[in-house]
Amino acid sequence: MRKLSLIAALAATPLALLSAAPASAQEADNDPGLEVSEERLRADMDTIVSFGTRHTLSSQTDPERGIGAAVDWALAEFGRIGDACGGCLEVLPVGRVVEPDGRRIPEPTLIRNAVAIQRGTERPNEVIIVQAHYDSRVTDPLNGVDDAPGANDDGSGSVMVLEASRILSQNEYPSTIIYALLTGEEQGLFGAGILADWVTEQGMTVKAVLNNDMIGNSCGSDGFCDPEHVRVFSEGLRADSTAELRARQRRFGGENDSPGRNLSRWLAGVAADYPDGMQVRQIWRTDRMGRGGDQIPFLDRGYPAVRVTVSVEDYEHQHQDLRVEDGITYGDTVDEIDFDYLTRSSVLNVRALDRLARAPMPPVLSANGAVRTDTSLEWDHVEGADYYVIARRRTDASTWLEDNRSFMHFDETPTGTNEPPVGTSIEYVDGRRADDWLFGIQACSADGACSPFATAVPGGAFYPLEVDSED
Ligand SMILES: [Zn+2]
Repeated sequence: MRKLSLIAALAATPLALLSAAPASAQEADNDPGLEVSEERLRADMDTIVSFGTRHTLSSQTDPERGIGAAVDWALAEFGRIGDACGGCLEVLPVGRVVEPDGRRIPEPTLIRNAVAIQRGTERPNEVIIVQAHYDSRVTDPLNGVDDAPGANDDGSGSVMVLEASRILSQNEYPSTIIYALLTGEEQGLFGAGILADWVTEQGMTVKAVLNNDMIGNSCGSDGFCDPEHVRVFSEGLRADSTAELRARQRRFGGENDSPGRNLSRWLAGVAADYPDGMQVRQIWRTDRMGRGGDQIPFLDRGYPAVRVTVSVEDYEHQHQDLRVEDGITYGDTVDEIDFDYLTRSSVLNVRALDRLARAPMPPVLSANGAVRTDTSLEWDHVEGADYYVIARRRTDASTWLEDNRSFMHFDETPTGTNEPPVGTSIEYVDGRRADDWLFGIQACSADGACSPFATAVPGGAFYPLEVDSED
């Protein structure tokens, strides 16, 4: 990547500015979200619940009951989906034996994830991960014997991942999509840690992780319902932060602009493009109070990740032994699933994945505006970027301003000259004082799919910190 030092005033590069916003992604002809089938979600749910339990400590060898049979079926189903797209999916188990940890792994245990990879045609090293945890549990986290249907937690996310692979594998994308059904979540997020290590070993660049954990109910045990939203949890301070980064953020800001936070803002925007569809309630904390999920091992390694989950949790139908007590039915069973809600949650995921897989990586950028009345932004050209969207927001504003956005085309260096390309720097000369604003940039493909914003603050880049050394 080239890092430009030249700051060009806007007036010097008039051709770089587009007069109007390019066609946006949602105007594309085909909306893959419309292909989500409630019927297939129901069929997959019935199949995975039929394994009785998918507890990580349940049988690995029984051909009909337990996690072993369930993972084998998922791998076979990914294989069938791959056959239907002419072999476009690489299907593999990603796992290893985890040693006893004195907590929820009492004996050496094979943690095996079912993974399918749809390689990108232009930037195969750039990956989007859509994942759910496939394992289930009842009241006792060590009970691998009793029935644990895990319909909502997290059969709901699991059947969405399968359905997303069916639909999106019918298209080709510049970036790679990894579909992952993880195990070992209820024992301590083991499967996600194994997958996060694996993508790191593969040298992959992780653009986004959508961790879907419980996306299939709309009412709580108190009768409060909200079928219109999913919650998206994102971290504020980066999990991979260092003392040096915190010191720089104290001087320049950035505590509310982690890549996960900007991924959350972006998802809310995708949902808002379809006002009749599922909307996003952003929750600005890493996970629910005192609880966790499989986005966390990715955040720990510096990857952009969010948790997508129901708007209202139903505590009587998660992590419960199947029983009736004082007239109340407990247990995470299929009859408690709101399939219309699950379908609309799945539609949002498919739309977001389609757009992420077409969009380039968010740029790495910096702002220079100390002790001056104007602000200059610089960024590296991003592979696959046709144009950039530059926006700002007040430091106490939650979202990027829709108005006053700038659109800049990227053009290659004119042949025969030493001029740098336009479209990788901008100078605000109209009194936009950097102290008072946050600046962000999206990278967009020629077909109008734009990445999440990356913010010009320390720690704002969509890369683990050791790679992000320049801002
Ligand atoms: Zn869960």
